[in-house]
Amino acid sequence: MEAHPLELPARDATSLDRMESLDPPDWSSIAALAHRVVDDAVEHIANVRDRPVWQPMPEKVEATFRAPPPDGPTPIEDVYRLVRKSVLSYPMGNIHPRFWSWYMGSSNFTGALGDFIAAIQGSNLGGGSHAAALVDQQVVGWLRDMIGFPVSASGTLVSGGSTANLIGLTVARNAMAGIDLREEGLAALDQPMRFYASDQVHSCHRKAVETLGLGNKALRRIPTDSCYRIDIAALRTAIAEDRERSLQPACIIGTAGTVNSGAVDDLAALAEIATEEGLWFHVDGCIGALLAIAPKNAWRVKGIERADSVALDPHKWLHAPFEVGCALVRDHLKHRATFAVSPEYLQGMSRGIASGQWLYEFGLQTSRGFGALKVWMALMEHGVAKFGRLIDQNVAQAAFLAGLVRSHPLLELVTEPEINIVCFRYAAKGQDEDKLKQINVEIMLRLQESGIAALSDTTIRGRHCLRAAICNHRTRRDDLTLLVKEVQRIGSEISL
Ligand SMILES: *Cc1c(COP(=O)(O)O)cnc(C)c1O
Repeated sequence: MEAHPLELPARDATSLDRMESLDPPDWSSIAALAHRVVDDAVEHIANVRDRPVWQPMPEKVEATFRAPPPDGPTPIEDVYRLVRKSVLSYPMGNIHPRFWSWYMGSSNFTGALGDFIAAIQGSNLGGGSHAAALVDQQVVGWLRDMIGFPVSASGTLVSGGSTANLIGLTVARNAMAGIDLREEGLAALDQPMRFYASDQVHSCHRKAVETLGLGNKALRRIPTDSCYRIDIAALRTAIAEDRERSLQPACIIGTAGTVNSGAVDDLAALAEIATEEGLWFHVDGCIGALLAIAPKNAWRVKGIERADSVALDPHKWLHAPFEVGCALVRDHLKHRATFAVSPEYLQGMSRGIASGQWLYEFGLQTSRGFGALKVWMALMEHGVAKFGRLIDQNVAQAAFLAGLVRSHPLLELVTEPEINIVCFRYAAKGQDEDKLKQINVEIMLRLQESGIAALSDTTIRGRHCLRAAICNHRTRRDDLTLLVKEVQRIGSEISL
């Protein structure tokens, strides 16, 4: 072996001879396996409709995931066989056309290819001068344009909506503190800060204010109107009351699409109050920010373009494979001022890899994956307009489902769908709330366990209900007709 001129002289020549790497000893056999993986993947997606949405895992399979770490090797073909048998067969189910639980996107094949290619390149989005960093910032710019934010706004892709909201609220806290909060900390504040959101706000905001050291009490929940939107008059009263009590109102959080029922707060009105009161305006748009690209429904989020920060979630209505969320901040200086630090080991350069922007100055993570590519490829392939139409399609499907529910004597529509979330229940005659909950939970579980469909449940103003969140580009009308038929069949079986 000829020594490379830069290599240190080996003390032990034999150990150099035995140097290892993770590359396969034989690239052609790994290529054959990789082709098989792709063929299987295509089949997996193409036939998704024919499989159960979800199935319980047998104890024997479950036990394989409790095995200790493998000390020795296993041939990759065997590893893949295990993945097919024990992993791919037991999905959460959200890529299935009849998955409507909680709130998540249904993924897409191009996005999956994007994740694969991103991993092949393996770039780190901490920053620097390379294509992945440019793709990342281009995707941020596209999302910024989609919601009508100015070109001067900044943003960062993160793991999801919870982190995106945390990023937005952190900038809000620091920008509104009136002191150098990064240096002095919360203890230096004269008055405790107050954030405002509706009583329908997502639980991640509680975690955010707790993480930010403000405490859960700093997030004042404002009552909602009959459509579950923040009550504007009650918000004004709460802000005035808090000023009276020497608290420091700092930030209004508007929700564009609540988890419970899909309610969209009056964002224009909230923007107005924020301006009048000199408060930060953050929008949790994890569900609904992208309504802005949907021709028939964009009007619902009018005012979002006036926010100071917005959290949105490409792994929901853009159907990117998990994970990818995005935080956008109108004032890029305030954004950077919240997170930038320049350690000696991460200095910029005028040339070379470190000559690009340090993207880690806009968030909490230093290293970050190349999740942008899956979003970039799918947007390039389909165009923004199609994603907008798919959003309209889901909203129309929710109205269709609500119509089916309304026309059925034993079903009750619990909330009128505003966007794509339908809350309803099987309302057997003469049953009290407890019994109805019992029946509906059983319906939900039997639907899941039979693999027919996946719904989740919630309780809105004391009424328990089934909840279908149609964020799914594979759902067809027939799927919703089948759902209603099955809910009714199971309901009548149970309440016999
Ligand atoms: C999904 C969701 C979140 C949290 O987003 P993740 O991507 O799950 O972290 C926050 N707010 C709302 C309104 C959501 O629907």
